[in-house]
Amino acid sequence: MRLLLLVLLLSTTPSWAIYVNSLSSHDRKTLSSALAKLDILIRNARTDNRAVTLTFSQLYAPLSTDQRALLDSIRSLDPAQLSIKTPAMNCGPEPNDLVKMPSRKVIISGKDHWLTTLYLPKDASTDLSAMLETMHKQIGKTLYVESGYRSPAYQLYLFTAGVKRRSYNIKETARWIALPGYSEHGCPTMQAVDFINEDGINCNSPAAKFAALPEYAWLKTNAARYNFQLSYPPDSNTGITFEPWHWRHVRKTLK
Ligand SMILES: [Zn+2]
Repeated sequence: MRLLLLVLLLSTTPSWAIYVNSLSSHDRKTLSSALAKLDILIRNARTDNRAVTLTFSQLYAPLSTDQRALLDSIRSLDPAQLSIKTPAMNCGPEPNDLVKMPSRKVIISGKDHWLTTLYLPKDASTDLSAMLETMHKQIGKTLYVESGYRSPAYQLYLFTAGVKRRSYNIKETARWIALPGYSEHGCPTMQAVDFINEDGINCNSPAAKFAALPEYAWLKTNAARYNFQLSYPPDSNTGITFEPWHWRHVRKTLK
């Protein structure tokens, strides 16, 4: 009986432990070969603007059993294991009222710049338009949105691609990229947007540079009237770095 119990226990244990500071060489190979397939899938999905609404079955379709199992292990990591104190999010069901914001040309740093097609839940989209219109009237500045809704499956791709870029260090990656299920970009009740300003200052710029902008100062004073909040302030105790370009829209029913 004891032996049977042991066998049962062993058979329910995950096939491997994942080393969050540095993936094993086996896992590195598996992740790298999975990404070789996924990079192509995502590139194609981006071409016709499907990437941000991708489902898990679409993401997993080209992968082998081993590759799927590794992605599942990453997907089921608990942020607490990675020293990230992300509060539990009440995201509700997948949104069915996504408003498409088609790709458009804007001028950034005096040059033509194409913003990619974005999706936002309807209430966030309505408040965002009103907020940016008022900002423009009051300080003559405009912000554009570079990133809106991202499905949890697309977030998993971004996370795994980030792990490879960061020498296969999951713990370090989690400081910069949210795990799927923990991103406000995939949470319609707390929908996040990432801003870029007319001079091209965005999430790739030093945080201090974005934080010094008059647009940022205006948001700090006025965004709450439009149900937007700064998600990761400099003094945040969440373990996530300061992100002055990342604001979340809090659905009124949650307030
Ligand atoms: Zn963001």
